[in-house]
Amino acid sequence: MADKALLQEFEAVVGADNVMSAESDTHAYSYDAAVLDSVAPAVVVRPTETEQLGQITALCNKHGLPLTVRGAGTNLSGGTIPSKGGVVVLTGALNKVIELNTDDLYAIVQPGVVTAKFAADVAAKGLFYPPDPGSQAVSTLGGNVAENAGGLRGLKYGVTKDYLMGISFFDVDGNLVKSGSRTVKCVTGYNLPGLMTASEGTLGVFNELTLKLIPPPQAAQSMMAVFDDVQAASKTVSAIIAAKILPATLEFMDNFTIRTVDNFRKAGLPTDAAALLLIEVDGHPAQVAEEAEKVEKICSEHGARSVDVARDADHRAKVWQARRDALPALANLKPTCVLEDATVPRSKIPAMMQALDRISKEFKLTIGTFGHAGDGNLHPTILTDKRNHDEWVRVEKAIDAIFDEALAMGGTLSGEHGIGMAKAKYMEQETSRATIEFSRRMKKSLDPKGILNPGKIISALLD
Ligand SMILES: Cc1cc2nc3c(=O)[nH]c(=O)nc-3n(C[C@H](O)[C@H](O)[C@H](O)COP(=O)(O)OP(=O)(O)OC[C@H]3O[C@@H](n4cnc5c(N)ncnc54)[C@H](O)[C@@H]3O)c2cc1C
Repeated sequence: MADKALLQEFEAVVGADNVMSAESDTHAYSYDAAVLDSVAPAVVVRPTETEQLGQITALCNKHGLPLTVRGAGTNLSGGTIPSKGGVVVLTGALNKVIELNTDDLYAIVQPGVVTAKFAADVAAKGLFYPPDPGSQAVSTLGGNVAENAGGLRGLKYGVTKDYLMGISFFDVDGNLVKSGSRTVKCVTGYNLPGLMTASEGTLGVFNELTLKLIPPPQAAQSMMAVFDDVQAASKTVSAIIAAKILPATLEFMDNFTIRTVDNFRKAGLPTDAAALLLIEVDGHPAQVAEEAEKVEKICSEHGARSVDVARDADHRAKVWQARRDALPALANLKPTCVLEDATVPRSKIPAMMQALDRISKEFKLTIGTFGHAGDGNLHPTILTDKRNHDEWVRVEKAIDAIFDEALAMGGTLSGEHGIGMAKAKYMEQETSRATIEFSRRMKKSLDPKGILNPGKIISALLD
């Protein structure tokens, strides 16, 4: 329980209606989308103006209270679990698009703007904001920057970091720090937007984000290539890129996922297929027609038994709905769904698929795999029940084995879901002792009392 005098200090900043400390309120903010134990904060604070973020941060620092910022809480690595209690700060009410500039192609937004809503506002002005995490209907732009969220369009258009031109954020003392610009180029000092990207609320509290916008592609063509052999599908991914075609989207689904998705929404998918590649090329209409033809040919030459080209907008929407259904459909099967995102150089996708098959057999686990094959970013999804102790021990061993394989192939622990609490213990395995020490010194000097989202990334290793 938070003490009354302390609550009054927060109330003086955001008003009594926006400070919550009842158990029913704090419980609601004790977990996120990661499969980790929940921890309730003492207080939940809901600022309605961005300046209040700085005042709240300063108060937390003054009282030595841990501060965890929360957007939509959809992160998959425990980034918004207030692991040391303290204060959870909600950004949902900080949802204004401050400027949408169609001449200089940028937007300035508050951190709580919902990703899909923003992309729709941008599209209504004839422009394009590509980052599209599967959670975009609810995720926030602040959460996207803090996790460097990717999505289905990463292969051609990049991820959130590629669109962050500038940022203002509050440091732990509540001072407003600004870096980056509205200009295409800016080399004024350290690249603080880069430092803040994927910082998971551990280095500063975002106040405003300046995001790059681009012209939309004039045309797009989607297709679904159906394979009877997983290895053939995996090798086709590299073959498409080797042919110097960069699809906007190049996604993979294995047989287990295909069947589960089809059962979920009766999508009419080929449930006997070993794997599907869902591909979209976009750009100038002439280029799209040429690339679509080439992709179709490459798929056929590499063993696709059929390639269904989307006939119209409806058909195209169905293809992508099937892909977006993958996680909810799998998650529907068992009480616990562990979604991993170890990522490998894409030429290693065939080897990674073999490794996942071996791991699922060795640890006797059900693993459905789908994901951004064009980025080497697969999502092996382990379906389990955390209450089954024996099975959970095998799940933990399987996760270790997935990371071992990915790192041995020159890959990375996380393509887009972040480190949070879930993967901190593996960081040295991918990086080095010196990297951990460097990061530790940086975190200590910027946040000496460990106020900002303690227990995440490097601070998980500080205790
Ligand atoms: C169904 C589903 C599909 C998903 N698909 C994808 C996908 O395709 N690609 C992908 O990359 N991820 C995906 N994710 C993961 C998740 O949605 C992303 O990580 C997203 O960026 C989180 O946004 P959020 O608003 O929910 O942030 P939250 O989960 O609320 O927060 C994430 C982190 O950001 C920090 N943070 C939030 N706001 C601020 C701020 N103002 N200042 C400082 N730090 C802040 C938090 O402290 C936390 O550490 C998916 C998740 C789900 C549940």
